Amino acid sequence: MKFSTTAIHAGNEADESTGAVSVPIYQTSTYKQEGLGKHKGFEYARTQNPTRIALEQNLAALEGGKACFAFASGMAAINATMTLLRAGDHVIVSDNTYGGTFRLFDKVLKNFGIEFSYVDTREPQNIEDAARAETRMVFVETPTNPVMSLTDLKAVSEITRRRGIRLVVDNTFMSPYFQRPLELGADIVIHSTTKYLNGHSDSIGGAVILNDEEDIKQMAFIQNAAGAIISPMDSWLVLRGTKTLVVRMKQHDENGRVVAQFLSEHPRVERVYYPGLKSHPQHELACRQMSGFGGMISFETGSLENAKRVLEGVRVCTLGESLGGVESLISHPATMTHASVPVQERNRLGITDGLVRVSVGIEDVEDIIEDLDQAINEL
Ligand SMILES: *Cc1c(COP(=O)(O)O)cnc(C)c1O
Repeated sequence: MKFSTTAIHAGNEADESTGAVSVPIYQTSTYKQEGLGKHKGFEYARTQNPTRIALEQNLAALEGGKACFAFASGMAAINATMTLLRAGDHVIVSDNTYGGTFRLFDKVLKNFGIEFSYVDTREPQNIEDAARAETRMVFVETPTNPVMSLTDLKAVSEITRRRGIRLVVDNTFMSPYFQRPLELGADIVIHSTTKYLNGHSDSIGGAVILNDEEDIKQMAFIQNAAGAIISPMDSWLVLRGTKTLVVRMKQHDENGRVVAQFLSEHPRVERVYYPGLKSHPQHELACRQMSGFGGMISFETGSLENAKRVLEGVRVCTLGESLGGVESLISHPATMTHASVPVQERNRLGITDGLVRVSVGIEDVEDIIEDLDQAINEL
């Protein structure tokens, strides 16, 4: 089956008892058992829930993985993945990863004896150089948030395969429609389903998709043992979201390209970060590794004052954290998503006070451009 068909049908079997074409929301904590040790495969809803299972089957199929486990948030999915490790293990991480990921690693997991090295993964050799005997995982985001740096997944997976290290990819920004990490050699894919997979800014969730049988067994154990599961209602919302993933992603991409081009030609915009622009230093890799460029764009306004004017001057775009919804969202990484990253580190990564990030929605692109234009012209 092709991607669009899978998106609509995987996990979405008609309900056996009623024929309902939409998977019911099984809002239950437990299940009646017919006798001692006799049940229908459902005992307690932390362990098994039919709505969650439908979502997990859908997401596993979309990423081309053997199994998926859904969690209460993207961070819960990342945290569960990290508990595949033990004290003394070492992890290599993309140096401008999502702020919340950095915070979890640096402020929480480090205290449990897991060591992290943050390297510029644009250059695969940096991973080779940082690898030690205790390295058990390479964790990358590509493109990164918010400066849109790419990591060559195929090149990195050659290193991780050779060394027997897991390669974990946070694929939130691209979705499986535009980027397929498992096919490029990754072992584990993570999503914040909050973003493009759900797509309507009305649910928080996360997912882990894996291929290795041992890791699948362990992740099933962790999901039940630690219990950070997604709710039935949120499972249903994401399952509804992925039915339109293809049409939404096509429009995010189409609008994203137009908005990036407009910004790159605007005299008051100093710099635009978008992998679809020829001026992006890794444009060639983007064309090779992704089948679209999506709707995430960052641009430099020159100062905090200018950024504030743009952020407060827009009327169609909404000032807010998050991304990947049908509505255009605009945000200020330095004080919002990346506030927990130390200032020198932010400046080194290009996350300046003047940087503005847009999650281009699927409104009429002329309205988005007109809106950004009137706000930027106030500078
Ligand atoms: C939002 C986000 C997360 C965290 O997901 P939550 O659902 O907010 O917990 C992780 N990685 C990336 C790239 C994100 O954008």
